[in-house]
Amino acid sequence: MPMKTVLKQELDFSRRVGEISGETLSLCYQCGTCTASCPLGVPVRRLIRSSQLGLKDFTLANMDLWNCATCKLCEATCPRGVQITDILHALRVIGYEEKKSPKKLDEPLWGVYEDANPWGGKKGDRAKWAENLAVKDAEKTRAKYLLYVGCAASFDPRLQKIARSLASVLNQAGIDFGILGEKENCCGDVIYHIGEEGFLEELVQNNLKAFEKTGAEAVISISPHCFNMFKAIYPKYGKMIPAYHYTELLSEFMDRDLLPMVPSDSKLNITYHDPCYLGRYHGIYEGPRKILEGLPGASMAEMADNKSNALCCGGGGGQMWMESIGERPSHQRVLQAVDSGASILATSCPYCVQNFEDAAKTKGVQNLQVMDVAEIVAMTMKVK
Ligand code: SF4
Ligand code: SF4
Repeated sequence: MPMKTVLKQELDFSRRVGEISGETLSLCYQCGTCTASCPLGVPVRRLIRSSQLGLKDFTLANMDLWNCATCKLCEATCPRGVQITDILHALRVIGYEEKKSPKKLDEPLWGVYEDANPWGGKKGDRAKWAENLAVKDAEKTRAKYLLYVGCAASFDPRLQKIARSLASVLNQAGIDFGILGEKENCCGDVIYHIGEEGFLEELVQNNLKAFEKTGAEAVISISPHCFNMFKAIYPKYGKMIPAYHYTELLSEFMDRDLLPMVPSDSKLNITYHDPCYLGRYHGIYEGPRKILEGLPGASMAEMADNKSNALCCGGGGGQMWMESIGERPSHQRVLQAVDSGASILATSCPYCVQNFEDAAKTKGVQNLQVMDVAEIVAMTMKVK
C-alpha cells in the first residue's frame, strides 16, 4: 500500500477516535498511571498510544479492550484529565463496526433485540416481580414518577427482591408511581458498551417516546447503569424527562419524614460500597450513606477504599456477560468489607449485589450479608 494511503488511514482512525470520545486522546503523555490503577489489568496506556499513532488493526486486535468494566478508576488517577472510558468506548464502536467484538457479546445483543432484555428472560415475564403488589400501570394511569425497574431487577430471582422492596417502600411512603410492566424495554446500557450505535439510537428513541407518553414528571431507576443512560446518554438523542437514582429520592423523602421507621433494638453494622455509576460517574456519595445512617440501630464503617477510590465490583461495561477468570475486584472488595467489621455489605446496584454475593461464596466469607439499600430500608420499615 502506498505510504500516503497508510498515513491517511492512520490519521482517519485517530481522528475518528477523537471525534467519538471528545478530543482528549492527544492529552495523554503516556505516564502509565491508568494501567497501574486498573483492577482488571486493561493495558490502557498501550491502547491509548496505539490509537494516538493511528494503528487501527493493532489496537483493535487487542481483545483486552473488552475486559474494561468502565469503572473510571483510571480516569480518577489520570494527571492529564484524559476521558479514558470515552476513548475505550470509541474503540469499541469502531471494533464493532469492524466485526472485532467478542462473540460472547452477541448473546445479550440478540436478547435485547428479541426480548427487550439481555438476561434471557421472556418479554411477557417482565412484570412478574410485581405480582401481588399494588403497582400502577403508568401507561394506563398517569403517575408522578415512572419507576424504571431495569432488566436485572425484572428477571433475576435474587435481584427481583430489590424491585419488590423499593415498590413496597414507595407505597408505604405514599409516593405516586407507576411502571411500564411488560412494555418496559432495556435501557440500552449493554448495547452502548457493545458499541452497536445504530440499534442503540433506535432503542433510545423508542424509550424516549414511551416515557413521554406516560406523562410522568420524572423517571426513577433502580440500577445506576440505567440511571447513567437516562441522565448522560439519552439527552444526546432527544428530549428526556428528569432522571433520578432511587437513593436520591429516598434521601429526600427521609428529610421530609416520609419514610416511617419502626423503632428497633437490633443493631445494623453496615459498610457501604459506592457503585461506580453512582459515585465516580455522578458524584452521588452522601445520599445513600445518609439513608443508611438514618435507619434505627444503624452504625456505619468505611472500607479501606471508598467514595472516589472505591473498588469496582467488575460488572460494568458488559462484563456481566463475559467470562471472568481468576481473581476479580469483587473478591478483594468483600474482604475489605469483612475488614471493616461490618456484618452487612450495602450497595445500591443490582450488578454489585450479584457480584458480591458470588464473591462472598467464592472466598468462603461467612457472616457478611450483601443487601441493596432498598432492601435494608424495606426491612427496617417492616414492609417486606
Ligand atoms: S494516566 Fe492519563 S496521561 Fe497517564 S498514560 Fe493514562 S491516560 Fe495517559
Ligand atoms: S475504566 Fe476501570 S476497568 Fe476500565 S480501564 Fe479504567 S480502571 Fe480499568
